[in-house]
Amino acid sequence: MATQLENARAGKVTEEAKFVATKEGVDAEVIRKDLAAGHLVIPANKLHLKTNLAPIGIGRLLTTKVNANIGTSSVRSSIEAEIEKMKAALAAGADAIMDLSTGGNLDDTRTRLLSQCPVPFGTVPIYQVIEGRNVEDIDHKTILDCFEKQARQGVDFFTVHAGVLKEYLPLLAKRVMGIVSRGGALLAKWMLYHNKQNPLYEMFDDLCDIMAEYDVCFSLGDGLRPGAIADATDEAQIAELRTLGELTQRAQEKGCQVMVEGPGHVPFDQIQYNMEIQQKICRGAPFYVLGPLVTDIAPGYDHITSAIGGTAAAFYGASFLCYVTPREHLGLPNADDVRAGVIAAKIAAHAADVARGLKGAADRDRKLSIARSNLDWRTHLAESLDPETAERMHREACEESNGGLKPTLQSDYCSMCGRQWCSVRINKEIRKVIK
Ligand code: SF4
Repeated sequence: MATQLENARAGKVTEEAKFVATKEGVDAEVIRKDLAAGHLVIPANKLHLKTNLAPIGIGRLLTTKVNANIGTSSVRSSIEAEIEKMKAALAAGADAIMDLSTGGNLDDTRTRLLSQCPVPFGTVPIYQVIEGRNVEDIDHKTILDCFEKQARQGVDFFTVHAGVLKEYLPLLAKRVMGIVSRGGALLAKWMLYHNKQNPLYEMFDDLCDIMAEYDVCFSLGDGLRPGAIADATDEAQIAELRTLGELTQRAQEKGCQVMVEGPGHVPFDQIQYNMEIQQKICRGAPFYVLGPLVTDIAPGYDHITSAIGGTAAAFYGASFLCYVTPREHLGLPNADDVRAGVIAAKIAAHAADVARGLKGAADRDRKLSIARSNLDWRTHLAESLDPETAERMHREACEESNGGLKPTLQSDYCSMCGRQWCSVRINKEIRKVIK
């Protein structure tokens, strides 16, 4: 069975491409052409498609998508807690889930999550390769077996840090934060210990064969992404990106779908350049960015620093935003953190889609604004990105009001200004005169 890319190149519009076309209101033939060009991916493992996957498309032609990372760590692991987080992420509107587990039984965790995951599901297989053994001891066969196993489980996309080359490591000496990617750091340790090239780079063609067989989409990892704004857009980052461009082409030639991962911590003024250079070097392959976080000084609020960068990234070239939770840099997120992170990333993605002028992107904004203007509280709250929070805040504000009549869902004002000062209500009076 051919991959989505091979089918598209052969002129075939797959069921998945039709599904994405209908969902996004885009012509299916246009989707096929973008798929064939490598500008759009539909991460859909053939085995996950047989169970519960509703495919999505990722590319500039379509709405910006949002991924939520979940997963156990070596100091905190509970499958039930991760299922709860995944449910929270999906309820908040996450378009994809990545299981980054490194603690507990990784196979059981992945199997349980996948069985309840109706969206594309990604992993970083090198985590499991390393788990339970010294990084120095990993070999090609262990890596291939792990990729094969996870592909057979139905994982839809793999982060593969194949672009971290041995010759790039000296470039990191001047960095503030060095390597912040877990996969990148462990592979660098392996390379220095054995004095050999990155095994994922050396065996890249073999990895392509496995991924093509199941149609697992590559997410070419940025193991040298900057972890501080001082390290952004440095020689190491750009050197790795050039290798990712080479690998993108090699994987696509073997029929594999490819996304490319990007930074990281990047000052706002460097985001446009970062997006444009990736699109050029990787010839339009969808860009999947972590953040980018536009400042380093806001631990506890990094869902906001990344949302600011996410909107700029999606406006200038990214197609897929990896969320960041408020607990980034501080600890493993809980379900509330996951929810806050997804909502922040959804806002970032939507703001970019509106600014890009995507057809229909601003329809919901207009609908909500009309309801707001009509003081139609029910529609106003229902159309919001997070109706539960909006409804709760409005209700609490009504309950806390003192003096005079308390506002309600039927009121023509709220507690912010009060009835006499409510400009929206006054506007309704003005409109009657000027219409
Ligand atoms: S009272 Fe103020 S905040 Fe509330 S609806 Fe009227 S104008 Fe808006």
